[in-house]
Amino acid sequence: MPEGDTIHNLATRLRPLLCGEQVTKLWVRERGAVAARVGDEITDIETKGKHLLVTLGEGWVLRVHLGMKGRVRRFAAETVSDHACFASTALIETARGAIGVFDAAQAELTPRRWLRAQRQLASLGPDLLCRHVDYDDVLNRARAPERAEWTLGELLLDQRVAAGIGNVYKSEILFMQGANPWQRVQDTSDASIKALFELGSELLHANLRPGSRRTVGHKTRPHAPLPGEDRLWVYGQTRRGCLKCHSPISSRRQGPQARTTYWCRNCQSDA
Ligand SMILES: [Zn+2]
Repeated sequence: MPEGDTIHNLATRLRPLLCGEQVTKLWVRERGAVAARVGDEITDIETKGKHLLVTLGEGWVLRVHLGMKGRVRRFAAETVSDHACFASTALIETARGAIGVFDAAQAELTPRRWLRAQRQLASLGPDLLCRHVDYDDVLNRARAPERAEWTLGELLLDQRVAAGIGNVYKSEILFMQGANPWQRVQDTSDASIKALFELGSELLHANLRPGSRRTVGHKTRPHAPLPGEDRLWVYGQTRRGCLKCHSPISSRRQGPQARTTYWCRNCQSDA
């Protein structure tokens, strides 16, 4: 499931393939073939939260949000069919090959000068993958009156509070902090709210490497998990049970988006 670290790792993989190359074909689902951008040099690839931003020349940016199902496929040079273009959400071809994005939630070509005002980006909270995160800003956003009755599970997923945490990290952060996912924001201290997002940033940074995501032993075992090694505390672990107390792991859908939350009723009982 794409979270902030997934997109960051994707950008790291794409930079050497695309940066400095000239666009020979650009397809964006909303617009079809974009002939006007052919010949542009790909000058930068960056991320903001879960958004991937590909800069074309000086003036344009292709913004992609993979959503829950989006995936990226690489094509060898001159092997991209029209069918692949039509099936993609967006596709960029250069003389070295092509990168296609399929089943993504959003792909949009935007003038760079409009990017700051772009609705999905302008509303984002501090990016937890930045080197210096403003946690006072995160806390102020979390304390907005309309979020007082939200649960902690809903709060962590709101990219307007802080950008980067997805559904896997949500469950993992709450377990590691011993916090009940259904506890209300208004019943949670400032220090506890900050600690949740600080841990989120720590886990996202720890997973900026190839290989599967790890939260178990993320400090002591920084390498990618070995086969059979426990790598997640609770997410998807209803068969295995809690690694700390051996109680069954519970799961239930949570919030208006009905995203599944995993937690240990014994270790996260404080509500
Ligand atoms: Zn437990």
